[in-house]
Amino acid sequence: MADKKKTEKKAKKIAAEYPNLYKEASKTDIKTAFEFAEDYKAFLDISKTEREFVINSVEACKELGFVDIDTKKTLKAGDKVYKTVKGKGFLCAVIGIEPCSNGFNILGAHVDSPRLDLKPNPMYEDHETVYFKTHYYGGIKKYQWTTIPLALHGVFFTKDGKEHQICIGEDPSDPVFYITDLLPHLASEQMGGKATDIIKGEDLNVIIGGIPVKDKDEKHPYKQAILEILNSKYGVEEKDFVSSEIEIVPADKARDVGFDRAYIAAYGHDDKCCAYPALMALLAQEKPKRTCVTMLTDKEEIGSYSNSGAQSVIYENFLMELLAKNLGGIEKFNMLVYRKAMEATKMLSTDVTSAYDPKFSSAFEANNTAFMSRGVKIEKYTGARGKSGSSEANGDFVSQITKILADNSISWQTGELGKIDIGGGGTISAYMAKTGMDVLDMGIPVWSMHAPIEVISKIDLYYLYLAYKAFIENIR
Ligand code: MN
Ligand code: MN
Repeated sequence: MADKKKTEKKAKKIAAEYPNLYKEASKTDIKTAFEFAEDYKAFLDISKTEREFVINSVEACKELGFVDIDTKKTLKAGDKVYKTVKGKGFLCAVIGIEPCSNGFNILGAHVDSPRLDLKPNPMYEDHETVYFKTHYYGGIKKYQWTTIPLALHGVFFTKDGKEHQICIGEDPSDPVFYITDLLPHLASEQMGGKATDIIKGEDLNVIIGGIPVKDKDEKHPYKQAILEILNSKYGVEEKDFVSSEIEIVPADKARDVGFDRAYIAAYGHDDKCCAYPALMALLAQEKPKRTCVTMLTDKEEIGSYSNSGAQSVIYENFLMELLAKNLGGIEKFNMLVYRKAMEATKMLSTDVTSAYDPKFSSAFEANNTAFMSRGVKIEKYTGARGKSGSSEANGDFVSQITKILADNSISWQTGELGKIDIGGGGTISAYMAKTGMDVLDMGIPVWSMHAPIEVISKIDLYYLYLAYKAFIENIR
């Protein structure tokens, strides 16, 4: 009798479950998630480039009383400061009740996305059409960038030291730009080639005009006409392209996907769908226990180099400045105190991951892949082959985080990018871990990552915000 009872006992719930959040979440939570998505889409539409994202982050911070860190001599609990990194990276912080020497709680994301940059001498005329030569930035499938409406975003710096912002193709009344592809009727040879060669790097030439100046003696009347437009509108001469930073991005705005609007299609979800909630989680802080920092970096898609990439010391300078000013002024800085604070610092490297795609199931190992709408993904390590290039998080740190998520009723999923032998990738975590801080990669899944238009789930985006907020408020 006793034995029978034992066998009838329900199995203890110890097996992992990763529920779909649209199935699990309350109606109210889904409604809140949809509202959060509206704010995100609006922010994203005006923040397609790293420069624009930084400008709008400064704006959002200032509205809540944040000031440039340079204007403060000392920092006390509740103070709110920010710093821009060459106009392309950004840092903001809310000083905690505990001294900064106890360590920081950091959220880090990148705000650059794959795109087409202009070559330094980009303009040419060919058979009565004017083009820009481009050089692609980040890992792209080149053929995906043809036959879609494109917009120009960026900045010219002219000889007189002036900065000229440019954004063409986003207003419905603006023209757009375009890269052609070959008609299928004549493409049998092209289509038989390798996908990497269907459109070559040197084929990503953007159409920018086709009406000549009337001057009969002009050798390149079509190009001349476009130069004249640029000169009259922006005061730019052809040689000013060398000191410009013009990016070509899809002209579309963020749009809902599906009859039920479960998803968002947009340019630049990688990594702005993490950068935005990381910024919002910071902006929600008033007087946190530990000093909270959000850092938004540039150049992640090409290795985090340059003085605006995560490898730049400028990001650390900000942390040093927080510490010194919290100790009473920059002259109070002590390197060992700083190093010890770094050892006690906890960070989430917030970047997107691949979403399982049933159409391409052979690329994924289903037990170790993130699924759309199952919430945030804990990625203990990234890297390629034998975890090469990875910054693996320490198990005890991961367990601290899973406990915080559980305490806040935030379900999570886990896994790797894809199957071991077919590829890999990295994030900013390795550069941050070097300082001694604990770092874990956490983001949400994306379909068609690095395509001109990528897709995320609204419910994932909202739970990512909740997870980031729970992390910076509770980790220590
Ligand atoms: Mn990324
Ligand atoms: Mn990326």
